[in-house]
Amino acid sequence: MIVIAIANQKGGVGKTTTAINLATAFAASGWRTLLIDLDPQGNASTGLGIARADRENSSFELLIDGASLSECARETSIPLLDIVPATVDLSGAEIELVSAENRTQRLRDGLTDHAKYDIAFIDCPPSLGLLTLNGLVAADKLLVPLQCEFFALEGLSQLLQTVEQVQQRFNEDLGIVGITLTMFDRRNRLTDQVAEDVREVLGDLVFDTVVPRNVRLSEAPSHGVPALVYDHNCAGSRAYMDLARELIDRLPKRRKAA
Ligand code: ADP
Ligand code: MG
Repeated sequence: MIVIAIANQKGGVGKTTTAINLATAFAASGWRTLLIDLDPQGNASTGLGIARADRENSSFELLIDGASLSECARETSIPLLDIVPATVDLSGAEIELVSAENRTQRLRDGLTDHAKYDIAFIDCPPSLGLLTLNGLVAADKLLVPLQCEFFALEGLSQLLQTVEQVQQRFNEDLGIVGITLTMFDRRNRLTDQVAEDVREVLGDLVFDTVVPRNVRLSEAPSHGVPALVYDHNCAGSRAYMDLARELIDRLPKRRKAA
């Protein structure tokens, strides 16, 4: 199983939207896919139509109680896509983790029985606390959504520093698979300029695919389905399909199941 953490300590940059729609695109392409909701807000769970009452085993139990992955994962309405949902309990996990044994490797340990899946996406919370750290330690790759706004690059150096620390102390194999520009508005010349600047600084790390600002992407969660299902032909959905193809090209080639 390849594990991809989707992280950026800024809120509202498109992490959850990216996690839901990339996971859906991979599932639609035949990958057995797992989405792990690691944000106490549980937006990825809500966006996939998982009712609060159906979250009795969640990422909290996986991290804190030592519950197994098979106990915590459940099916979604999307074929081949399972989710480990999140509840508000997870906000307390950050504190419980401080004194826990192996506090940075709880998620990695929780993912050992992963034979059911080809790929997992982790939707990280908007902070660089212990939850995100668990996400990075468990991950093979980091994907960073970056909003096309004036302060886009601010905070990125802090994130990259955290990645370096994780590489040095816990997970030397962690790599950055790419940076995705989100909420691009072609009518706004500032976002154009920002996209250009980001590419100049980060070069090939930035995916060619740019996710446009698209109202369908923001409407879909209230219907409990990914945008890719809500309106598979809208500009946002098409961008996420393109992004998935680009991402697949950047991953180690998948071995065919025996
Ligand atoms: P994060 O997980 O980083 O906090 P979200 O994915 O939840 O960010 O996005 C923040 C808000 O912006 C949400 O209301 C979401 O529906 C909306 N949104 C995300 N991406 C887009 C986009 N490309 N176009 C329009 N709205 C978007
Ligand atoms: Mg989010």
